[in-house]
Amino acid sequence: MSDSTTETTDTFALDFSTTPSPERRAAAEREEILADPGFGKHFTDHMASVEWTIDDGWHNASIHPYGPLSLDPSASVLHYAQEIFEGMKAYRHADGSIWSFRPDANARRFARSARRLALPELPESVFVESIRQLVAADQDWVPSAPETSLYLRPFMIATEAFLGVRAAHAVQYHCIASPAGAYFTSGPKPVSIWLSTQYARAARGGTGAAKTGGNYAASLLPQQEAYEHGCQQVMFLDSEKGEYLEELGGMNVVLVRSDGTLVTPDSDSILEGITRDSILQLALDRGLRVERRAVSLTEWRDGVADGTITEAFACGTAAVVTPIAELRGDGFTIGSPTTGAGELTMSLREELTDIQYGRRADPHGWMVRLTDPTSSAE
Ligand SMILES: *Cc1c(COP(=O)(O)O)cnc(C)c1O
Repeated sequence: MSDSTTETTDTFALDFSTTPSPERRAAAEREEILADPGFGKHFTDHMASVEWTIDDGWHNASIHPYGPLSLDPSASVLHYAQEIFEGMKAYRHADGSIWSFRPDANARRFARSARRLALPELPESVFVESIRQLVAADQDWVPSAPETSLYLRPFMIATEAFLGVRAAHAVQYHCIASPAGAYFTSGPKPVSIWLSTQYARAARGGTGAAKTGGNYAASLLPQQEAYEHGCQQVMFLDSEKGEYLEELGGMNVVLVRSDGTLVTPDSDSILEGITRDSILQLALDRGLRVERRAVSLTEWRDGVADGTITEAFACGTAAVVTPIAELRGDGFTIGSPTTGAGELTMSLREELTDIQYGRRADPHGWMVRLTDPTSSAE
């Protein structure tokens, strides 16, 4: 497998070795965590890892105990942010089986992000296998209460010990897993969004379309500004004209017109969300119209004023769909804090989560089964 000339993305396969954790949490402790997991606070007993070097390609795939990484202080990720990640979920269905949602789409986006960050592309088959193996090892960590899941965080970092500025010759891929509670405990609450006019998250030709930590680092200060203005999220505009909607720090944005048409920004500097793509597909299935194009702030403001834009929502894996009550900026407000969750917004949200949790047919074959209903890691 070390002969990189034999690697092709479709057929490449690696065997994962497994080292069970000697410190697996007892069932009682695990159940206590799963009863109120929050988000991103607790991690399962294992993780998946694969190494890459320029000479040997991808090798050394393993499932092993969750724990700290050992990095040379000169590792390039720590200095030049050569890093990418993904976010996805494993869902437990009523019969106990565990499923993931469009993992092939996450694998392809991971490869696109890798290309932009000059990282090696992890073959789609290895990406999906790492998830399958990790979830198999830690399947008891997939909660079963409504709207809960096991959040999966695959990521790749440049680990070469070298301060020179070039793409690293040594890289590590890891995937960790964290049980996630229901994002909204009493149904989705419409949020207020702060419009950042001073800062952009991504520029034309930059890394906005890649899922990489640097984009998030750039969004943290404006996100703080949003909190200071009593808003929960920040909206970014295009960096050139400051006229067109881009997205939130970690969620895409969709506007709904009074005739049911969904309108969403098309731009080279936003992250192509799989949640958004899926919601738009469900809308098309209903015979609704979908427009992916430049959407100006003025269009939103005028549309809300004259009643042609009736709903707005943000979407992404973590919260699925979050209704937007209002957009606030320096000296203006679009919508109002009392704007409720839109009807179409909520019905598309329900349809998508019904598919993800196996409560409704899956007409597009999006769900991929990860484990057998009767199997157990014990
Ligand atoms: C991950 C992410 C999204 C949402 O993508 P999903 O695939 O729907 O989870 C949107 N915007 C940014 C910046 C992201 O990083």
